[in-house]
Amino acid sequence: MSALAERLISIRQRIASACDRSGRSVASVELMGVSKNHPPEAVSEAVQLGLTLFGENRIQEARAKIPLSPPTARWHFIGHLQSNKARDAVALFETVQGVDSLELARELQKQAQKQSRQPAILAEVNVAGESSKFGWTPDALLGALPALSALDRLPLKGLMTIAPYAPDPETARPIFRRLRELRDQCEQRLQHPLPILSMGMSGDLEVAIEEGATLVRVGTALFGDRPRPIRPEPTPSQP
Ligand SMILES: *Cc1c(COP(=O)(O)O)cnc(C)c1O
Repeated sequence: MSALAERLISIRQRIASACDRSGRSVASVELMGVSKNHPPEAVSEAVQLGLTLFGENRIQEARAKIPLSPPTARWHFIGHLQSNKARDAVALFETVQGVDSLELARELQKQAQKQSRQPAILAEVNVAGESSKFGWTPDALLGALPALSALDRLPLKGLMTIAPYAPDPETARPIFRRLRELRDQCEQRLQHPLPILSMGMSGDLEVAIEEGATLVRVGTALFGDRPRPIRPEPTPSQP
């Protein structure tokens, strides 16, 4: 069995036990393979192993990789997107996770109109208020909600967050819990469901699932160490 196949089995087991512990069905949690810095061959192998959803955080890399990957792969943009890259993002991705400003959302709406597309969006929330991270504070998101949901080309499907890095995954629990509460609050205000809670990565996916994640974004634990780090970042501890 390949290393990727073994890692995929192990992640599926981690997801299954977390679902078990929290009385959830495994079907309620989708696994995204974060393929940034990995070649299209890695995506192809993952698709053969049954994975369908992939995440990229840089437009340039995605533009090169997506056409070389199996057409059945589905793609979400997961990073901070500059407004001047909205056109490419709309053309390449079915969902833009990490919409963090009205300016960006309006640009995505404009491009979606031009391209006759309807990319789903998730609002990125900076729950912990870290100055190094993008995303709305919970209050700012509640304030932006009416304007955001008025953009008819961009169905708002939920929220996403990146928890602060910490060696102990339990540190992220209150962050994940807060995101879920905020999601519930947004649903009440909007009077429509926001089914996607995108939270949890290689190091903390169990805690995220216990707190209600419906989509976990897994890079390192699936594809191994990233060959060419874009910028130095802490590596979550491996199980
Ligand atoms: C890189 C990245 C991930 C995956 O992180 P790992 O710790 O390697 O699983 C998840 N979400 C976002 C937004 C990322 O940029």
